[in-house]
This record gives sequence, C-alpha cells and structure tokens, in this order.
Amino acid sequence: MTTVQLYDTTLRDGMQGQGMSLSAAEKVRVVRALDRLGIHFIEAGFPSSNPKEEELFELLGSVELSSASVCAFGMTRRRGIAAEEDDALRTLVSSFAPVCTLVGKTWGLHLEKVTRVTREENVAMIVDSVNFCRANGKRVVYDAEHFFDAWDDDSGYALECLRAAVAAGAENVTLCDTNGATLPAEVAHATTTVVAELGERVQVGIHTHNDAECGVANSLAAVEAGARMVQGTMNGIGERCGNANLVSILPALELKLGYEIVGRDRVRLLTETSHFVDELLNMTPDADQPYVGRNAFAHKGGMHVAGVQSDARTFEHLDPDLVGNSRDVLISELSGKGSVLSRAERAGIELDADAAKRAVERVKEREHRGYHYEAADASFELMLRREAGQYSSLFRLESFRVITEKRADGRVETEATIKIWVEGRRYVRTAEGNGPVNALDRALRAAITDLHPHLSDIELTDYKVRILDSHDGTGAITRVLLDSSDGHDSWGSIGVSENIIEASWEALVDSLEYAFQPKHAAGSTQHAAART
Ligand SMILES: [Zn+2]
Repeated sequence: MTTVQLYDTTLRDGMQGQGMSLSAAEKVRVVRALDRLGIHFIEAGFPSSNPKEEELFELLGSVELSSASVCAFGMTRRRGIAAEEDDALRTLVSSFAPVCTLVGKTWGLHLEKVTRVTREENVAMIVDSVNFCRANGKRVVYDAEHFFDAWDDDSGYALECLRAAVAAGAENVTLCDTNGATLPAEVAHATTTVVAELGERVQVGIHTHNDAECGVANSLAAVEAGARMVQGTMNGIGERCGNANLVSILPALELKLGYEIVGRDRVRLLTETSHFVDELLNMTPDADQPYVGRNAFAHKGGMHVAGVQSDARTFEHLDPDLVGNSRDVLISELSGKGSVLSRAERAGIELDADAAKRAVERVKEREHRGYHYEAADASFELMLRREAGQYSSLFRLESFRVITEKRADGRVETEATIKIWVEGRRYVRTAEGNGPVNALDRALRAAITDLHPHLSDIELTDYKVRILDSHDGTGAITRVLLDSSDGHDSWGSIGVSENIIEASWEALVDSLEYAFQPKHAAGSTQHAAART
C-alpha cells in the first residue's frame, strides 16, 4: 500500500481565519488530539519572541507524542545577509521542533514586483536557509509559495527553486496554491511533472486553499498525481475561504482511494476530533459537513429510510461508523455506546454494561439541553465517574450570592459570598473579583484550599460563552466552556443554564472537582491522553 502523510497547519495557517484564537494551553490540547488521530506532522507556528508563541513552544517541548512530529514554521533568510545572521532563522533552529518548514519564493514575477530580489539571490536564499537548518540537525520541509502561479509563468525557474531546496537537503518540497485559484486538472498536470522530475529524490507535498472551493479536490488530484504529503487544516479553517480540509481528505484517501494514512482504527476518531477543534474555537460544528456533520448520515425521507434499512449502501457513500459518525445522530454525536466506552477506557474508568447504557442516555438527554462534551473532557469524565460509582464530591453547597454594584463614578465592584460544607465543616467566605465569575472562583477557592491546598495551583486559562438557540420554547440558553490548567495538563468543563452565573458556576465546579478526583495509578498515562 502506498503511504501518504498528513501535515496539519491548523495552528498556523488556520489561525489566520476570522475570529480564530486559541491560548497556548488550548493549542497543546489540539496537538494532542491531532497526534491521537495519527496526523504525521503538526505545524505549531512561528517560534518567535512573541510571549504566546514562546509559551507554546515551551509547553510543547515537554509533551510526549505518540507519532506526530512538531514543525516550526519560518521564512528563508532575508536578502543580502548570511543565514546565521538572520535572527528569525536563528530562533527557528533554536526551538525544540525536529522539523523546520521554510516558506520561500518560486515565482519570478513575484520576485520582480513584490520582493525585488533577483532570481539568483532567491535561489541562494533557499539553499542557504535549508543548509543552515540541516547543519543545525533539523529535518526540512520546503513550502514553495505561489507555486502554481510560478509554474504558469516560468515552470523552468519554479523547478530550479525546488531543485535547490532538494540539493541542500530538504526532505520534502510542497507545492502551495497560495491564492487558492488553481483547478484540479492544472494541479494534477503540474504535480505529475514535478514528481517525474524530482520524485525519486524527494517527497512532494501539496498545500492548497479553498478560494475556488477546490481545496479538497486539488489535494486529492495531487496525490493521484504522485504527491505523498498533504497539508491542510481541521475543518478547513483558514484565511479567506479557508485551507484544504483534512477532515474530508483523510477519509477520501484512506477509505475511498486505499492509501495508507493513519490506519482504519484511528479514522474512527475523525468525528470526535473535528468537533473538538470546533468547540475549542467556540464555533458550532457544521451540521452539514461531509463525513462528520450530524446530518451527514441523517435520513429523513421515508423512502430513504426504508432504503437505508434494507441496505445502507443504497443511500450512504460509506459506513458512518468508519469515521466515528453514526446514522442516528439527530440528538447526539456521542450517542454511540462504543464511543462512551472508549472514552471511559481512556480515562481509566471501568463501566459495566448497565452504567454504559445509563451514561449514553444521560449524554443524549444533556446534549438535548445544550451540553456538548467534545471540548469538555473534564465534565464528561465526571459524568462517567458518577455513573460508575467512582465519584467523590469535593464539597456540598449551602448557598452562594453574588452582588455587582455600579457606582456614580463609573466603577463596578463585584463581591461573592459562598457557604459550603467540606468534610463535615462549614465554610463561609467572601471575595471580591473583577466580575461575578472571578469573585465566585475566589470565594470558592478560599473555602476549599484550606483542606485541599493543591487546588490553588489551578488556573482558569480561558472562558468562552455562547448563546444557544432556544429549545422547546424556553428562553435563550447560555453555554459556558471553561479551560483550566495546572501548568502541566489542561482540561475543559462546561455549564449550561438560562442564567450565565449558574452556567459559569457549574463549569467552575466541574473544573475543580475534576482536579480533585483520585487518579488511577494504572491508568495515569491514559489519563493524560484523555485530557487532549
Ligand atoms: Zn497557506
């Protein structure tokens, strides 16, 4: 079987899209989820002096991945200086990432009009930069920006640039359709020629954008023409109309075209991983998304349903189970018992058949009320623990009260008072905060850290609110997603209510209770994996 590798650029190119933002801890969770799915290369971003990127590379340096290689992204050296004098390149090679992805020019017209670099100097920039990374022990992927425009303009020079990268030691040259304008036949033609010229010596990759809505089609055409690495993003997120969507490319290559990508077992994590990334970005998963959408295998028409019942192949392009989706997903993406059991196993929780059945019912019922557990692993695990009888509660609430006061001078003050019982003792604590959730968090921590001091190390790293459509004639519902970290692991929790304070409280309590649960010694590594 022919192997094709996947290269995910969600955390770099994907983050160029409108409204995309993830904290460093959240990016680490994405990296873990992609690694579990079997993605071969994960581009983390530009290592730079920007504190957020610095923190990300520092965190990633200590994350153990099962199969993925982390890539650091950078540009070829600036003109007129040596590679070792280029600060950005120096920062690039000093990161822990084993792979450096260098983007460079291949288009003569672009060189003349935009960058004003001669063709010879551009080739020297490519050679020096690849050499420099190789000399520093890095593997190199060379991204040829605007490759298809370059090919149209002067294919000889475009090839010369690729050859220079290969000669200097790049293990991959990736053909980028940076403007997203190219159509499948052109991609296939250019790729075929490049593979014929260079394919013996180097892996050829494809990186496409979706401006002509051909991101996926172009990627598949390139693979059929001999490309052996595909770059793209989860759910196709990215600048303008997005990048090539790996969520559609993976099953097409593995299940329809018969390439060896991540293995059939891991393809089953596709739906879960796709929704996880959406939820973390605070986006509603697209119900009509191919393969993973909740409508992708939903059959409404009577004749269709009858057809599916007699033989699913009559109305389904593949078995939904293969991509971790299911036919009866109208209520819940996670309604399958298999998926509940596999998540329990990853968390080190033993569920008997009855408990699994109850958990599935509970997920259905709660998802109907607006809970979505893809990014709320902590809340999901707590729910499983309750069903399995392996749950111990951190405290018992007597009451809380939050007061927000706005003064004539414009100042806003918030104060929370909380009354709880911990191990038979009553604690009453009051705290101020910059808002109601912050004040509640402080009061709660003040009350419990007496007995559980380690819980004071937990930091709330992100707080996201989404207003959900009203259900069954009730008012609008508020959903809160909270991300927490103890500096080593991070996890997500969820709360849903018509009242934003109540929703926040629920997520807050889940976050702390999760950290409080006894960890299973035997399952501790699985446990870390479950928090992705
Ligand atoms: Zn791109």
